[in-house]
Amino acid sequence: MNADHIRRIKRTRRQDHLIFHEGEVPYLTFEALDAFPWLGHAFSTRLGGVTPGERGSLNLSLAALGDGHEDVLENYRRIGRSVGFDYEKTVGALQVHGTKIARVGADDAGSGVIRQNVFTQEDGFVTDEQGICLCVYFADCVPLFAVDPKRHAIGSAHSGWRGTAAGIGTKLIEKMVSEFGSDPEELICCIGPSICRNCYEVSEDVAEAFEKAYAPEKTEKMLFPKGGGKYWLDLHEAAFENFQRAGVRPGNISVTDICTCCEKDLIFSHRGAKGTPHGLSAGFIFIR
Ligand SMILES: [Zn+2]
Repeated sequence: MNADHIRRIKRTRRQDHLIFHEGEVPYLTFEALDAFPWLGHAFSTRLGGVTPGERGSLNLSLAALGDGHEDVLENYRRIGRSVGFDYEKTVGALQVHGTKIARVGADDAGSGVIRQNVFTQEDGFVTDEQGICLCVYFADCVPLFAVDPKRHAIGSAHSGWRGTAAGIGTKLIEKMVSEFGSDPEELICCIGPSICRNCYEVSEDVAEAFEKAYAPEKTEKMLFPKGGGKYWLDLHEAAFENFQRAGVRPGNISVTDICTCCEKDLIFSHRGAKGTPHGLSAGFIFIR
């Protein structure tokens, strides 16, 4: 990373400041979604939890059930209390870097958190039911939210590089349309805390996946050659394009100004952990 590189990167979209909420467990929100009284949402940080060591302190990963399971559940209780959802009604997917999105309801509450995960092939959810809380895990990958203010329906998805290149953000909107009759032009979408283009070096094979998925005039805003077969990749730009492709208005898309890797002491970061074990942060969205 150098000054030349920064100069080469032109800002192509508006970035929104996430709002930091203090309390028993601090969390972040988008102003664009705070406007809806019927809706709750939050992104967790590493602060305010009980998990020790490298997974400290607010790890929300239950992937390795067993060690520290009770500590992780206590973290869920705390963030749920602070944000205003019932952690026992949270639903999490296994997140396999695919593009499958499930419609969930009351019967699914607790899956992947307080009981065995039945969503082993999914990377996202949609619902129009009150109380159930959609959960998306991240530690550099991009958490996405979509909200239909007219029909009171919501969606969330995990958009790592594979899912992003495969267009999971577009598929999330298509699912809102097919399940709830949403009009993409009315949806409010958010691209949450995740790795920034200045921190995300990728190899040729990843660059090729994006060159295949997007037109050249789009990839030139996403991929920045570094030399030696390496590139910097802007996942936020690609996620933005995925929403636009589905018909979401650019002005209705909020993009994070927080990089998980630049802020690795605040939010879990895979790249920032440099190969050591790390926890996961989570995005939560629910209908009050
Ligand atoms: Zn960064």
